[in-house]
Amino acid sequence: MVDTHREEVVNVARRVERLVSGKETSDGAGVRLTRVLTGDLQRRLDPFLMLDAFGSDDPDDYIAGFPDHPHRGFETITYMLAGRMKHKDSAGHEGLLQNGGVQWMTAGRGVIHSEIPQQEEGVMEGFQLWLNLPAAEKMCPPWYRDFAAAELPRFRTAAGVEAILIAGESHGVAGAVTRAATAPLYLDLHLPAGAHFIQSLPAVHNAFVHVYRGTVAIAGTEVPAGRMAILQNEGDGVVVEALEDARAILVAGRPLGEPIAQYGPFVMNTQAEIQQTLADYRDGRLA
Ligand code: FE
Repeated sequence: MVDTHREEVVNVARRVERLVSGKETSDGAGVRLTRVLTGDLQRRLDPFLMLDAFGSDDPDDYIAGFPDHPHRGFETITYMLAGRMKHKDSAGHEGLLQNGGVQWMTAGRGVIHSEIPQQEEGVMEGFQLWLNLPAAEKMCPPWYRDFAAAELPRFRTAAGVEAILIAGESHGVAGAVTRAATAPLYLDLHLPAGAHFIQSLPAVHNAFVHVYRGTVAIAGTEVPAGRMAILQNEGDGVVVEALEDARAILVAGRPLGEPIAQYGPFVMNTQAEIQQTLADYRDGRLA
């Protein structure tokens, strides 16, 4: 826990543009989840392509996991709040993601991997965020790294908010991962009732707050658990105030402004690149 940090300054707080409750869906081999950031928001929340929230204490909702499947052209960031998930990919990487850990995977030109729960009972809860890659990096070599909870930078503010820094920089503390093109910020905030958290944000960066415990207020708008607040871009940051004990993820990044062509687990810039990707996958050239 880092306890020396500088305060963030926000003069004009961003307001909430829209609250989103997401869509119940299932993916993989029948894993039930809520797709919070859906395809129709990819433009608005560029460079982020998807956010799935999974949370259940019923093993039938998650037990079959995500057997072998491909990805190309973007990054997946899996944050496991509770539970254990084993992952294994075509490049020979294997790891166990558990209780507060993060897996950051750059699919680049291609991976085939599986994500399988390693528990038959209990609560499984977490998020998977998809971060786009710029056109120039879509065909980069795949990369991945596991961070155990203890390896993630974290600090506590004077107001008593604990912040876990998955990506980017906050209060002068660097997160676990940085990315030049999109400068992603990914914070998990644990706020005691009455506390507020201040984060400066460049106006051009798109940003959202997804609350998963309690209720917060953002510039006068109440945001309850299970809602994603898309933030307006006007202003120089955000102030998140806990109306009761609350937990939320704050995500922001610089938009790429490039065309998005998606076919399921492949995200490229053009339909021709998607056709090429499908051919590569069919012919065993993806990974
Ligand atoms: Fe996957």
